[in-house]
Amino acid sequence: MKKNVLKKAASLIKNKTRLLIATHVNPDGDAIGSSLALGEILKMMGKEVVYYCESSIPDKYFFMPGVDQFTRELAGAERFNAVIVVDCGDLERVGDASKKIGTTEVIINIDHHMTNQISGEMRLVDTTACASAEIVYRLIKELERPITFPIALNLYTAILTDTGSFRFSNTNRVAFRICEEMVKLGVVPHLVAQQVYGTYSAGRLRLLNEVLNSLELSSNKIFAMVTVTLEMMAKTGTGPGDINGFVDYPRFIKGTEFSALVQEIDGKKIHVSLRSKGKLDVAAMAERFGGGGHFNASGFNIEGTLKSVKTQLFQIADSVESSSS
Ligand code: 5GP
Ligand code: MN
Repeated sequence: MKKNVLKKAASLIKNKTRLLIATHVNPDGDAIGSSLALGEILKMMGKEVVYYCESSIPDKYFFMPGVDQFTRELAGAERFNAVIVVDCGDLERVGDASKKIGTTEVIINIDHHMTNQISGEMRLVDTTACASAEIVYRLIKELERPITFPIALNLYTAILTDTGSFRFSNTNRVAFRICEEMVKLGVVPHLVAQQVYGTYSAGRLRLLNEVLNSLELSSNKIFAMVTVTLEMMAKTGTGPGDINGFVDYPRFIKGTEFSALVQEIDGKKIHVSLRSKGKLDVAAMAERFGGGGHFNASGFNIEGTLKSVKTQLFQIADSVESSSS
């Protein structure tokens, strides 16, 4: 992140009155928590804030303070004098509204993805940050605003979920430092964990069963894949928000180096989530298909059949040399 950019963003924000905070489709804890934490600060500063997310918010995040304020309809984007895009590697991640947002005067880009492609002066992009929430935290400090309990709960949840409960490679010292501060401010870790990890609906658990049953391994055993079909979701009465986190399971298999969750979106479109452990760069892999993300966690959308997409993934797996061989 360029020197002074936090300072510049803070002074720019101070001069704007109507701000739109937009985050990515299929939001995760970081997308939601970072947006709400920042928005709450801006409201304290007397600004009009609108939170936009094209997708519905998964049930497990309903406890996050302010979450009910997210809107899925974006009318009159031109009335905002700044748009803050949170946790998006490219503008298209916002969904259909990206076209409207792209024409707005000022875009502030807060992100930690290594494949971030949003250009502009206000790039608050730090690929070493554990989560977008870390950058939001730094911006809050720059704005010299106090962190209230609702803000603390949002920042804590964002970091907890984006680091996979401090298990993923983006877990850094700052993650612990910020979370410790949030606990001092009243956040109770076990209560947050209960909300995020302990509130499965029966349908979601049944869906997990179906998904785990779909497990397939490449012949060299370094790649494992699971599938989510529309039929599985219909059968279990679940939706896309219920899939969050399932991609981690195939990566648990000893000996695998990367894994995928292949999700049927509609008759044509498929979303692929990729995860790796160690030295395999799945962000580069996703970029080849027009997607992006992090070194160990990435994704892309692709048109085709489940069969054709899986065949392509198996071909990639066959061409990857195992780091242990
Ligand atoms: P997930 O697989 O959970 O959807 O996403 C994993 C990571 O990859 C996230 O950091 C997410 O932002 C990124 N990602 C997922 N899908 C896409 C995509 O279609 N385009 C880009 N640029 N990034 C994606
Ligand atoms: Mn995210």
